[in-house]
Amino acid sequence: MDDNCLFCKIIKGEIPSTKVYEDEKTYAFRDINPEAPVHVLVVPKKHISDLMHVEAEDKEYTCAMFNAIKEVAKAENIEESGFRIISNNGENAGQSVEHLHIHVVGGKKLGTNVV
Ligand code: 5GP
Ligand code: ZN
Repeated sequence: MDDNCLFCKIIKGEIPSTKVYEDEKTYAFRDINPEAPVHVLVVPKKHISDLMHVEAEDKEYTCAMFNAIKEVAKAENIEESGFRIISNNGENAGQSVEHLHIHVVGGKKLGTNVV
C-alpha cells in the first residue's frame, strides 16, 4: 500500500466509500462522480499504479478483479442488461488516480463508441 494514494486510503477505510463488493484481493466501491446509473470502481488490494506495472506475480489480483466485476454486475442487477468495463491508463487516457482500477458502468443504454 502507498500512504499517499487515494485508492489505498479508500481500501484501508481512511477515506469513506460506498462498498459494493469486497474479497481478499479486491475492493469495489461507487464512483464519487457517476457517469451512469451504475458506476463502480474495482481495485486490487495492492498498490499497482497502472496496467503497465502489473507483474506476473500479480495474477491473483488481476484474476480476482475479473471475478469482482462479475460480482458487482450481480450485486447491481446488470448482469442481464449488460455493462461496460473501462480502465484508463496513462496521460492520454486521462487516468486521474494512479492505482489500477476498472470502471464498471451500466444501468442504461450506453453509447456505441469506444472513444
Ligand atoms: P480515472 O479518471 O483515473 O479513470 O478514474 C478515477 C475515478 O475515481 C473518477 O471517475 C473519479 O470520479 C473517481 N474518484 C476520484 N476521487 C474519488 C473518491 O474520493 N471517492 C470515490 N468513490 N471515487 C473517486
Ligand atoms: Zn494505491
